[in-house]
Amino acid sequence: MWASVQTVRGCPKHCSFCSVWRTDGQKPRQRHVSQVLEEIVDLRRRGFRFIALADDNFYPVPLADLAQARRRENPERLQSLEALRAERFELMDRLAQLPGDMVFFTQITMEAAEDPEYLDAMSRARIRGALVGIESVTPEGLKDVYKDFNLAGDALAERLQEFKKRGVHVLGSFIFGLPSDKPATFDATAALAQQANVTLAQFVMLTPFPGTLDFQKWEASVADDVEKIDGIPVTRHWLIPKHLRPKVYAPHPVMSADEIRTRTQGVWDEFYALPLVWQRAKCVKSIKSRLAFVMISKLYRQMYANTGISTDSARSNKAHRMTRLMARPLVKLFAGAPMPELQMPN
Ligand code: SF4
Repeated sequence: MWASVQTVRGCPKHCSFCSVWRTDGQKPRQRHVSQVLEEIVDLRRRGFRFIALADDNFYPVPLADLAQARRRENPERLQSLEALRAERFELMDRLAQLPGDMVFFTQITMEAAEDPEYLDAMSRARIRGALVGIESVTPEGLKDVYKDFNLAGDALAERLQEFKKRGVHVLGSFIFGLPSDKPATFDATAALAQQANVTLAQFVMLTPFPGTLDFQKWEASVADDVEKIDGIPVTRHWLIPKHLRPKVYAPHPVMSADEIRTRTQGVWDEFYALPLVWQRAKCVKSIKSRLAFVMISKLYRQMYANTGISTDSARSNKAHRMTRLMARPLVKLFAGAPMPELQMPN
């Protein structure tokens, strides 16, 4: 349904669960705007009109970093940040010149909502949606994952609404199973997702990916006492056959793995209940678009909640088959007529 193009790699942050900054580095490296454009134009010629800008972080230069470079009177850093930012604007200005039926989606940090100039440029470029890593709705949870630059509570909901006001829909990403999470965190997260009016949401369970800070801490904590499944230590979980892999790895201070799993499933069910999805579908005008929105929401839930959380492999396989069936008609809906003559924007 979507093609994907990467425009920038690396993220200056250092969230504890995230593999991006460990593998791709903290210094953002941007591809030349013309190369990115050539790839996108080629895809549109072939009939792809929906493109995911599959960047680690589409907002590599937050205003806070610019202010800090000014405060520290560091002209070299300031110049390199400003150049990076200027290239982002150039990319967005040129995306805006592409055919009007094109739609882009990306991944971004919440700080972009403080930058109306940037959000307006995104809107002009028809970047209609962005995955925003919200992770936790509590200050304690954000501290757990070294993401204190995010907001919590009401301020968080207001910040997220800024995206929508400027025409950028948010796919909010939340993590459950953080050390400070409590049973009440699940309800609070479901309520916040509603209050912030995010268009889509995903609720994932904390997974220690190799190379991350969380992984290192977890591996050191289990040391020689590590549990084995099929003879494989859980600290090498990617080698365990998929149907045997646990869903939650690190022991939680107040909840069992099963409690985290069932409560996570409950939040997916609540967020994607049909009446709420239909209400959210009002973000598009025609009945046809609303029905498409409902199908996409249900497909999204099917792809992640039903296939990723279930511990029953038969149920999980059935969910995979259902996902394929649901996706088939949507492929046609997403395609555009090929434009073999399309030229590069200036
Ligand atoms: S979670 Fe997002 S903001 Fe944090 S390091 Fe990873 S890519 Fe960067």
